[in-house]
Amino acid sequence: MKPSRKDSPRKSIFDETMEAFYRAADLIHLDPRVQLELEEPDFEHIFYITIETRDRLVPVSKEEEAHFKDLPASSVKAGEALEPLANGQFVLHRRALLKADITLREGVLRIPKRGLFRIEKGGPKKFKAYRIQYNQVRGPYKGGVRYHKDVSLDLFKALAADMTWKTAIVDIPFGGAKGGVRIDPSAYSKEELEHVTLRFIYKLKNLIGPYVDIPAPDVNTNPEIMAKMMRQFTDGAATPHAMRGVVTGKDVRIGGSEGRAKATGQGTVYCLEEWARWRGESLAGKRVLVQGFGNVGTASAEILHAMGAKVVGVQDAYGTVVNEKGLDIPALLTHAAGPENLRRSVEGFPGGASASREEFWKIDAEIAIPAALGGSITGDVAEGLKVQVVAEAANGPTTPDGDKVLRDRKIDLIPDIVCNAGGVTVSYYEWLQNLRMEHWSEAEVNNRLERAIKANFGIIHDIANDSPQKTPLYDSRRFAVGKKIDMRTAAMALALRRIENHYLLEGFSQ
Ligand code: NAD
Repeated sequence: MKPSRKDSPRKSIFDETMEAFYRAADLIHLDPRVQLELEEPDFEHIFYITIETRDRLVPVSKEEEAHFKDLPASSVKAGEALEPLANGQFVLHRRALLKADITLREGVLRIPKRGLFRIEKGGPKKFKAYRIQYNQVRGPYKGGVRYHKDVSLDLFKALAADMTWKTAIVDIPFGGAKGGVRIDPSAYSKEELEHVTLRFIYKLKNLIGPYVDIPAPDVNTNPEIMAKMMRQFTDGAATPHAMRGVVTGKDVRIGGSEGRAKATGQGTVYCLEEWARWRGESLAGKRVLVQGFGNVGTASAEILHAMGAKVVGVQDAYGTVVNEKGLDIPALLTHAAGPENLRRSVEGFPGGASASREEFWKIDAEIAIPAALGGSITGDVAEGLKVQVVAEAANGPTTPDGDKVLRDRKIDLIPDIVCNAGGVTVSYYEWLQNLRMEHWSEAEVNNRLERAIKANFGIIHDIANDSPQKTPLYDSRRFAVGKKIDMRTAAMALALRRIENHYLLEGFSQ
């Protein structure tokens, strides 16, 4: 067996992300003062939010079960009063106790068909929250809100910087930001998460706004959460409807845009269509691996499946399903959305076999779409890949070692800052519709998105291949750097040129 390669020790996530920035800055001779402006965020907001949590029923450990084996069952009815959480616990609402016949021993009770649980008292809880406003020279700060247990200042700085490059790449008048809360959402109820959201926006109220900073959904946040954010921000204002553009990614019924829910995955597919076209091929029949089956992963898989591609493997945080004939994606979506499937996982899907986490990336396919969290394509993973292209639908899915291996192995790369820019592009359309009080059709949104992604992806391709040209869709001549470079550096070169223009033409206020 080939010895496993050693990945270099990881630097900070921010330092890793900025490697492409420095490469591109050197290459295009970025103005030194502009470089200093872009090396660090404008503002790093770190704050704390508190909420009141409910009492919980926590499963008793295996070792303790014997001690309670003769504990009679209580007649508590599950249903509404016992709210299941994705981590296996229940929130205990007081109404569960009304008319119940309860036997408690040492704080433990038995619930029929569910097992033994210890009652844990709720109370106040504190969470660390962040909003990094990276740069606003091209327009209001813009970026997602992530609820996750592993977030940090380092991560949000990297993601906020990425947003700055991404908005410039798709040429929309926004800057970059990112933020969120350090929380494991699987351990909290919908109501508790709503309280987290309300407190988060309460604390940010003076720092965001439709012309200041515009949050959007990211990992573990969704249109429902965006609705609460909008309400919290606009409540009590004299003109609340004029401020609907304070957040994007809203439900279409309350000011969201048609096509926003699938926009990030759709943008990834537009990039892949161009990639295939350059090779004189089509996406029909291509075999695809998708990691992550949330907003971005499901949309990518669904659109590719509808185009005749074969999604042969899907992995999420809890499991991996594979089928070399192609997974039935509509059936997999139904499985993940099932009422009992609280983790929204692909695990246990009957239309495929399960596979180990390691095997997943080694499956024979043409296209790999990492659409989960950062850092999944390490050097080791990249060594084992059998695909022709990695389409980075997630933010920062490839480590610098992974990047190097992909280059050495001549596996094509569609870098994240263009591959997943569809979401922020349609967020811009949503913001425009809100400001103009308009509602565009899905066809109109997708037409604009397709042009925006394909034109800018074309420019990046031309920079990378040193083939400047004017086409009916775009003009890449003013972005050429005079030699062939990799796609990630090319994408960054395009972003930096567009950002630099603002500083050089507008000047610096002293
Ligand atoms: P999501 O919360 O809807 O889904 C995340 C998915 O990743 C889930 O299926 C989860 O089970 C899976 N996952 C988590 N950890 C994993 C692991 N260790 N291994 C395998 N799978 C794992 O999130 P999303 O909105 O789809 O975002 C996914 C990625 O796309 C993130 O990197 C995000 O920053 C990026 N992104 C999202 C958008 C957007 O519009 N939602 C836009 C641009 C970029």
